[in-house]
Amino acid sequence: MTAAAESTVTIDGRFARELPELAVPWQAEEAPGPELLVLNEALAKDLDLDPEYLRNLEGVRFLVGNHVPDGATPVAQAYAGHQFGGYSPLLGDGRALLMGEVTDRAGRVLDIHLKGSGRTPFARAGDGRAVLGPMLREYLISESMHALRIPTTRSLAVVATGRQVRRSTMLPGAVLARVAGSHLRVGSFQYARATENMDLLKRLADHAISRHYPQDAEAENPYLALLSSVGAAQAALVARWMLVGFVHGVMNTDNMTISGETIDYGPCAFMDAFNPAAVYSSIDVSGRYAYANQPVLAEWNLARLAEAILPLIHEDQEKAVAPAMEALGGFRENYSKAWSEGMKAKLGLASGAKEDIAASSLVDDVIAILKDGPVDYTLFFRRLGKAARGDLGPVHGMVLDLAAFDAWAERWLALEPDAELMDSVNPAYIPRNHLVEEALAAATNGKLAPLHELLVAVTEPFTERPGLERYAEGAPEDFGNYSTFCGT
Ligand code: AMP
Ligand code: MG
Repeated sequence: MTAAAESTVTIDGRFARELPELAVPWQAEEAPGPELLVLNEALAKDLDLDPEYLRNLEGVRFLVGNHVPDGATPVAQAYAGHQFGGYSPLLGDGRALLMGEVTDRAGRVLDIHLKGSGRTPFARAGDGRAVLGPMLREYLISESMHALRIPTTRSLAVVATGRQVRRSTMLPGAVLARVAGSHLRVGSFQYARATENMDLLKRLADHAISRHYPQDAEAENPYLALLSSVGAAQAALVARWMLVGFVHGVMNTDNMTISGETIDYGPCAFMDAFNPAAVYSSIDVSGRYAYANQPVLAEWNLARLAEAILPLIHEDQEKAVAPAMEALGGFRENYSKAWSEGMKAKLGLASGAKEDIAASSLVDDVIAILKDGPVDYTLFFRRLGKAARGDLGPVHGMVLDLAAFDAWAERWLALEPDAELMDSVNPAYIPRNHLVEEALAAATNGKLAPLHELLVAVTEPFTERPGLERYAEGAPEDFGNYSTFCGT
């Protein structure tokens, strides 16, 4: 007889304890044949979770929510949200569970959250399940974003459940275990506000401040400070999306975090050819969340956060409006600064240089060149790094108007761009749509090697390595228009 396996996961239930009105205790659906397909060992170690444990039966059952460690209270979180501009007063985790919080080796408190763990009271008509392809997609793209130094939820593991899930065809079911600073969303505040329970709204704001912006607790008006902090975090985040050509695709207020982490990789994609109107989501028919609209939509979402917390900013809401508007006004300034600094770095021009005005006009003019022709956005900047080293050939082959480009390049080279700086910010490897599709199709047919190979490339995106050439190339010409489907 062996003693019962001792749980090696220490997990808290702080969200459930402090905000019970937003937390419905719930159990994951039993997975008939759980099989661990991908484990992020480096992340597991950072979280002080033993990869060996996560690979054994109890660990795998933990990763699908079927083993609940002592002290954990899995909950489905309640939230509301504006979806494509229309307000839904009750969304919530329809197919997800917050297992609780762990403390990583650096002392940070992080959520462990499962997606695809079965129906909850928020499931409405949904089956509560997730399909392998989209869960591996979230794993791949979120880990790539992290490697690109973009704040994001992380992916710890994908476990196949052993159950076939009904979509347009029967597909393998899976659960994604993800990790985040928190899962607090703009929609969490909208939900709390709609309850008209001001004590709940205040507890939620205090919880958010304590977890993400502890310095705001000391501010003259902590809730106004919270609004500014979330605005600054989102401005920095969306600027980084724009700089790498990332289109989130479903920036509903329930998919915008308070922490400033990218969340919910559904119909997202990296642009191939530069195109301000790029949309990949099959349901975004009006182009609301097109590439170039993202900063404006982030600001729109922040205004919904401001509305939700107005009564905390001032008990007389009329008096809260002006300071809230002023705090929101910081977004544009922060965004523009982050974006132009980032663009200058992409061109190898250090910030604050005396040639700042020249650098700014070079940024404007390079965007005009990109708009002019179908130019692969990622490849263009990577090849520009070679041009900074004197080899203009590769980038020349990409542009339509050579005369305009050469005139631009002469002005740019006169500022002596720093090629090393360029290579440290312009990735060689991104999860290109054709590569993602190829890897997911293989995985759905039981072959995980292409996914692992793609992960090797995109998790070290700035270092070109021999043998990985095909991961740095643009989409094949016959790849066509790319469209992805929402959160299935
Ligand atoms: P998302 O687009 O993934 O952010 O999801 C929007 C809302 O739909 C959330 O409330 C989800 O929990 C819910 N949802 C999405 N898919 C399902 C599903 N298969 N079963 C239950 N709820 C779902
Ligand atoms: Mg969501």
